[in-house]
Amino acid sequence: MSTTEIFEARTPIAREDLKADENLCEYCTAKCCRYYAFPIDTPKKWKDFDYMRWYLLHGKAAIFVDEGTWYIMVYADCKHLLPNNGCGTYETRPQICREYTTKDCEYDNDSGYDQLFESPEQIEEYAEAMLPLKKRSPWSRERAMGLNLPVISG
Ligand code: SF4
Ligand code: SF4
Repeated sequence: MSTTEIFEARTPIAREDLKADENLCEYCTAKCCRYYAFPIDTPKKWKDFDYMRWYLLHGKAAIFVDEGTWYIMVYADCKHLLPNNGCGTYETRPQICREYTTKDCEYDNDSGYDQLFESPEQIEEYAEAMLPLKKRSPWSRERAMGLNLPVISG
């Protein structure tokens, strides 16, 4: 979130091609101004994963893990983001925007995370892989034990 002033976004370039007097943000579509994220507890049991499924069922959200910390990310453009990808409140922008730098930003990397979950199904698959059978979801346990076979009448 190191947008400087208002500028027109240009055709993206590779980081290594950036000239010394240029700002990478000038070539970006303000990716870092289009979501917010905050840390959440590391999931340990099915109930924790079930909450995450609930978050993702609402869409416009993802969960990622970065250096061991779990986060929820909500996709939402900042209200001050201008049509030309500049910051409309540059002088009074929040501190987090002032401190964010282009050094490890998402300019050329949609997912620099250790793990990224974008759907409830991905969370469920991960929980199934990580949790012992007795701690999984009720339906996962039933499936594993073959208890949800179709009932054949007649
Ligand atoms: S994602 Fe990086 S390059 Fe793009 S606006 Fe944010 S800090 Fe600048
Ligand atoms: S205030 Fe909004 S538009 Fe400005 S830098 Fe921060 S997130 Fe981006």
